Amino acid sequence: NRAVVLKKRPQGEIQDGDLEIVEKSVRDLKDGEVLAKTLWLSLDPYMRPRMNDSKGYMDPIGLDETIVGEVVARIVESKSDKYQVGDLVTCYSGWQEYAVFPDTADMVYKIQEKPGVPLQAYLGVAGMPGRTGYCGLMYVGKAKAGETVVVAAASGPVGTVVGQTAKKEGCRAVGVAGGPEKCRYVVEVLGFDACVDYKGGNLEEDLKAACPDGIDVYFENVGGAVTRAVAPLLNEGARVPICGYVSAYNAEDPTKVETPFHVLKALDPVPEHRFFLVTEWQDKHQEITGILADRVASGDLKYSETVAEGLESAPEAFKGMLNGKNFGKQLVHVAD
Ligand code: NDP
Repeated sequence: NRAVVLKKRPQGEIQDGDLEIVEKSVRDLKDGEVLAKTLWLSLDPYMRPRMNDSKGYMDPIGLDETIVGEVVARIVESKSDKYQVGDLVTCYSGWQEYAVFPDTADMVYKIQEKPGVPLQAYLGVAGMPGRTGYCGLMYVGKAKAGETVVVAAASGPVGTVVGQTAKKEGCRAVGVAGGPEKCRYVVEVLGFDACVDYKGGNLEEDLKAACPDGIDVYFENVGGAVTRAVAPLLNEGARVPICGYVSAYNAEDPTKVETPFHVLKALDPVPEHRFFLVTEWQDKHQEITGILADRVASGDLKYSETVAEGLESAPEAFKGMLNGKNFGKQLVHVAD
């Protein structure tokens, strides 16, 4: 059973030696426990802040501990009445090939397989990032028909769902993404009304041109220069659901970062804004997963994914994702 563990806390970007692949034994099952085999591992930006030694909204990962993460797994042994061998689940068993956990463990969900929905979609647009985009836009952003919604990291799983949900609600959806290829995809395939390349050198002007009526909902994924460009365009009554700010995750000193809160609080009037966690709507997990999976199955919800092969490829793929090398949801295919 190979696992990726945190060997050294990264300072800034992850360096060779910060993460290490080790062999971990798998113990025998006790009553009420299952053995799960990882098929797909999800790589998500939040894992980087958890490698720091500071407590954010979640505890740091300990040294020599397996990196946290959600996976799609198959139950391969069971001493529980709740799970049968062969069941497919999503669970937070981390960057490893096998995991033993009790059937009382939190955040383990049986996958209700649907034709047209690949298993790994339950880690992406029909999974945690998709629910984040959907709930953040609908319940914190309160997007209404006719409004302009802006979201960055627009080609990633959260942004993809934010923009396509906004379109469904009758909004103008404007994406921000890195490079012409991603921007073209966001408009031509995902169906956003416009997409601004923040690496193109004219962020402020291009964003203003894409939002002739200002911005009513800014779904915050990235922070930094994008937030500063958005700020003067926010309309009175605008809402800013703060989901994350990935541009700061590799900061050498995370305490010195200018957060979206600093930028927004300096505005007059201060727009409605708050940080939210997808787990606020844990009671809607099955309902919203169902909505998003149905949209995937019908072809209504488009998305793309980047797949790295084998657990050993996870560290490089993760480093790349924080720099935008992924095109859509970054996954690791661990086993069949
Ligand atoms: P993505 O798959 O979109 O990957 C991150 C993307 O961020 C990169 O591909 C890159 O896209 C973009 N990016 C990286 N650096 C910068 C930068 N300096 N400026 C602008 N964009 C940058 O990620 P997800 O869709 O999984 O997650 C998006 C956000 O949502 C993250 O902030 C994440 O932490 C947050 N999140 C929060 C949750 C919550 O409960 N609050 C739950 C899930 C996610 P590009 O090439 O376009 O720049």
